[in-house]
Amino acid sequence: MSRFWSDIVGRLTPYVPGEQPRLDRLVKLNTNEHPYPPSPAVLEAIAGVTGDELRRYPDPESSALKQALAQRHGLEPAQVFLGNGSDEVLAHVFQALLRHEDPLLFPDVTYSFYPVWCELYGIPWRAVPLRADFAIEPLDYDARAGAIILPNPNAPTGRLLSVDAMRRLLQRNPDAVVVIDEAYIDFGGASAVPLLAEFDNLLVVQTLSKSRSLAGLRVGMAMGSAALIEALERVKNSFNSYPLGVLAQRAALAALEDEPYFLEANRRVIASRERLVAALRLQGFEVLPSAANFVMASHPNRRAQELFTGLREQGVIVRYFSAPRIANYLRITVGTDQQCDALLAALAQLLA
Ligand SMILES: *Cc1c(COP(=O)(O)O)cnc(C)c1O
Repeated sequence: MSRFWSDIVGRLTPYVPGEQPRLDRLVKLNTNEHPYPPSPAVLEAIAGVTGDELRRYPDPESSALKQALAQRHGLEPAQVFLGNGSDEVLAHVFQALLRHEDPLLFPDVTYSFYPVWCELYGIPWRAVPLRADFAIEPLDYDARAGAIILPNPNAPTGRLLSVDAMRRLLQRNPDAVVVIDEAYIDFGGASAVPLLAEFDNLLVVQTLSKSRSLAGLRVGMAMGSAALIEALERVKNSFNSYPLGVLAQRAALAALEDEPYFLEANRRVIASRERLVAALRLQGFEVLPSAANFVMASHPNRRAQELFTGLREQGVIVRYFSAPRIANYLRITVGTDQQCDALLAALAQLLA
C-alpha cells in the first residue's frame, strides 16, 4: 500500500499465474502450455518481417488475421475481435458487456481470473455451484443474471459441456450475454461457434496460446454478433489502438494456415492425455474426465498439497489450488509421453 495508489488499486487481489521457472531441467506441467512447438511456418513468418515493417505501427485492425478467422469460422470480419492474448480480450469483455445491475454468473470452480476482473471493473457476481461430479448444469443458471460466463471445457476441471447443453443455456437466457471461453476447445470438444447463427447474445472467446502452441505470442479473439463485437472495439479503441504487433499478426496468420500441423499436434496431445489418465488411475488416482490438455487428479491416500510439494522436490511442477472443493486435486498439464512418464515415476516414488 502506498499513499500514491488509487483506492481501487489498494483493494485489488490480482490473479497469480502459474510460475515460469528458469531451470530447463524441470518437467513443467503447470500452465497448460502445448508440449510441442508451433508450426515451422510460424517461425518463417516471423523471420520474414522486415525492418521497415517494424519501424511503422502495425495495422490497428489486424485486418488480414481477422479476415482469415472470419473465413475459417464462416463469419463476417465484423464478427471477429482480436486482442493481446485472450486475457486481454476477456478484460475488455468484462468491461464492455458483463457489468449490469444483476450479477454476472459463473461456476464456483472455474478460471480464477473471472472474480479478479469483476473486482477491477466493479461487476457484481455470483458463483453457481458445479454439481457434485463437477459438471455444469444449464438449469442452475435459471436465475436473474446480468450475464453468464463459463469456460468450455471448464478450467481447471477439464469437463466438457455439450453443444446441446449450451443451446439450452442460451435459450433460457435470451436477454443476457453468454460468454463461452474456449481456451481448450481444440483438444477434443465441439465449439459453440456454430451457435452464433442462432443467438445474438453469444460471445465465443478463443486463444492461440494453448492449442496453437503460441502462449508466448499473445493472440486471443472473440467471435459474436456485430453488436457485441462493436462494444469490444469501442473499449479497445479507448484503451490501446494497436494491441497486436506486426510479429503477432503475421505469425498468427501463418499458424491458422497450417491446419494439418495443428490437427496432428493436438491429436498427439489427446493420445498422451488418454495414456496419462489410464496410468494415473492405475496408481489409484481419481481423474475427472478431461477434454482439455490438462487433467485434474486426486488420490484417496495422499493429500494433494503434499504430492505437489513432493513433485516439486523431484523437479516436476504441476498446479495446486488451495480453493474450496479442489483443495485435494492436482491439475496436471499433458506433456509429451516422456514428460508424463517422468511425472508418473515421481508420483510412484511418492506413493510408495
Ligand atoms: C489460458 C486461459 C486463458 C488465457 O489465455 P491467453 O494466453 O491470455 O490467451 C483464458 N481462459 C482460460 C480458461 C484459460 O485457461
